[in-house]
Amino acid sequence: MPSDTRRFTLLKAGVLIDGRGGPPIERGAVLIRDGRIAAAGPERDAAAPDGARVQTIEYPRMTLMPGMVDAHTHSNGFGDGRPGDELAGLPDEVLTLQSARNARLSLLTGVTTVRENGAKNATTLRLRDAVEQGIAAGPRMALCGRAVSIIGGHMSYFGIESTGPDEARAHTRRLIKEGADYIKITATGGSTSTSFPLRPSFDVDELRAITGEAHKFGKLTAAHCTSTQGVVNSLDAGVDMIIHCIFKEPDGVDGFREDVAERIGEQGAFVNPTLHVSRSANWAIERRKAERGLTPAEQAELDEGRRSLDRRMDDCRRMIEMGLKVVTGSDSSWGSYPLGNTPYETECLAMAGYSPMRALLSVTRDSAVSIGMGDRVGTLEPGKEADVIVVNGNPAEDVGALWNVVDVFLGGRRVDRGSEESRAGIRQQPPACDG
Ligand SMILES: [Zn+2]
Repeated sequence: MPSDTRRFTLLKAGVLIDGRGGPPIERGAVLIRDGRIAAAGPERDAAAPDGARVQTIEYPRMTLMPGMVDAHTHSNGFGDGRPGDELAGLPDEVLTLQSARNARLSLLTGVTTVRENGAKNATTLRLRDAVEQGIAAGPRMALCGRAVSIIGGHMSYFGIESTGPDEARAHTRRLIKEGADYIKITATGGSTSTSFPLRPSFDVDELRAITGEAHKFGKLTAAHCTSTQGVVNSLDAGVDMIIHCIFKEPDGVDGFREDVAERIGEQGAFVNPTLHVSRSANWAIERRKAERGLTPAEQAELDEGRRSLDRRMDDCRRMIEMGLKVVTGSDSSWGSYPLGNTPYETECLAMAGYSPMRALLSVTRDSAVSIGMGDRVGTLEPGKEADVIVVNGNPAEDVGALWNVVDVFLGGRRVDRGSEESRAGIRQQPPACDG
């Protein structure tokens, strides 16, 4: 046999979590060639062929795991509490630059794939072009372009307002033509000032036109649902992912609907609960409270926010117990939740009932599958993209270790993460007191 002269990179660590669901492997290694994983497993099983040129990097007291996959980001956002209505008033050029900044922050913190959930016009599509040309640094991106919305509906300010099945179908085709990887639908109102969060937006025939068209071209769909009827309508239309999954009636009364949750399970739809974006909103008010006190209206908002979050935590716990496919999608930088903080959402899912390992899978393997990229990323297996992160600690025992990323490899290339000082401001801090 002639000796193998190709170049390999071999990463060795005290622990390897391959993201396939088995227990962590002591003294594990990942062998990389041409940006892809050639082997992953115990050190002895991941050696390079005899005679190959190998660069070996050792992390004896660290853990190797798949790069994180965040199924729900808004890189246009600032995470400083400004409403989407205000965000959409910024010019596309500014939003594209802000998106580039956010994409880089995500990557530095170990997120190697994101699914963008709605941005203004073509800003994220242009950002991806720039990343592919090496102008900007960022994770792999699954894009929807902008969300499909009704007139005045949630995120309609980003550029699409559809009426009737024909126009909804036309807009779906247009997005696919522009390069969308999947179709995001706002099936209820939301924080958009002209929308109604507790009521459905599209009619079911309009939703079916969108999902039918998307599926015809092999594209997935995901629907923003902040009311029970929105979830039901989305299920009627065969939507692949239910986002937020809030069980509320038009009068604001919330009540978990086990029958609806069962349907989600039967249809195999994924659920993206977005808990921390709500907790962030509470944190912002709590911070204000510590700084200057609250008006009665603000205190009432905080009380309602806490009550609502408790309810949603409980709903999430029930969906986890029912075996639904609950994944990490942060929703950052929406509202007060800045990008670069994906582990907060994974921690919330652990608080809602996931074991640390299941929580970890929710931000690697399962989130990758949920966005249709399970064949390329999400686990450390031969043939997949070499998106690997190195963390200090073992996140299969403590999800908090996801904050301690020490190295990031994207497609086998080590990411320049800059200095520790330059990364110091990325992490969102909880309010000082929880009064
Ligand atoms: Zn969102």
